[in-house]
Amino acid sequence: MIRVLAPVLLLLALFLPHAQAQVLSGDLVQGGMVIGRTLPGTKVFLGDRAVSVAASGVFVLGFGRDHPPTAKLRLLGEDGTASESVLDIRQRTYRTQRIDGLPPKMVTPPAEVLQRIRRENGEIARIRAVDTPVTYFEDKWIWPTIGPVTGVFGSQRILNGKPRRPHFGIDIAAPRGTAVVAPRDGIVRLAEEDLYYTGGTIMLDHGHGIVSVYSHLSRIDVAVGDKVAVASIIGAVGSTGRSTGAHLDWRINWFDQRLDPALLLTGMPAAGG
Ligand SMILES: [Zn+2]
Repeated sequence: MIRVLAPVLLLLALFLPHAQAQVLSGDLVQGGMVIGRTLPGTKVFLGDRAVSVAASGVFVLGFGRDHPPTAKLRLLGEDGTASESVLDIRQRTYRTQRIDGLPPKMVTPPAEVLQRIRRENGEIARIRAVDTPVTYFEDKWIWPTIGPVTGVFGSQRILNGKPRRPHFGIDIAAPRGTAVVAPRDGIVRLAEEDLYYTGGTIMLDHGHGIVSVYSHLSRIDVAVGDKVAVASIIGAVGSTGRSTGAHLDWRINWFDQRLDPALLLTGMPAAGG
């Protein structure tokens, strides 16, 4: 069940005349993406991390699956003024998902592929670290494909009785060949037919560390460097890589922080029609 959350608008420190002025919109919750607006030229820090601010004054923050209950936001104005606020990050409980009877090689990769996995993960991490000065993340997101949500963000997976990494995406079941569209404008940073875990995989860069990933694709219609517009087709649903059936696995990061795509959207529209 996706939790549908109306965007919360927070007005913080707006009464201050100078660079402290900021507006945050989005969910201050584990897995949440929050868009901020401040005066151009202001420097923004979340904890120790310097956050890029666009010429328009827009910035974005993300709070990962296990983010602690508070975060410190600091703004330094061009005029030398400074402000600091403590954000309360709502804590979530995640469900446990047990999957038994998987072939052992789907649970523990064979030794001969470990180097390949390390190389592929290194490339994915490199792309997630990129801080591109575009703000495509700002506008409304749409579903990349339509179908039943069969896996949710954050669930703890126990595969054949062994606890594994949590599930960081959402899974949308759809027949092989169903179109996958860009849920927002983006720049294609990765377009690979056959990664070990995720098979046919696309990564889109939406700017300022917001990167989304589409996995298990049966077809890829874009190339690295392409600029894709929201709602344009980028590939098709499949079951490539370590997958047990046709579905789209959709993930979003803010740098190394894992975000919940479901928080960006309202409920899934009815399939078909
Ligand atoms: Zn998945």
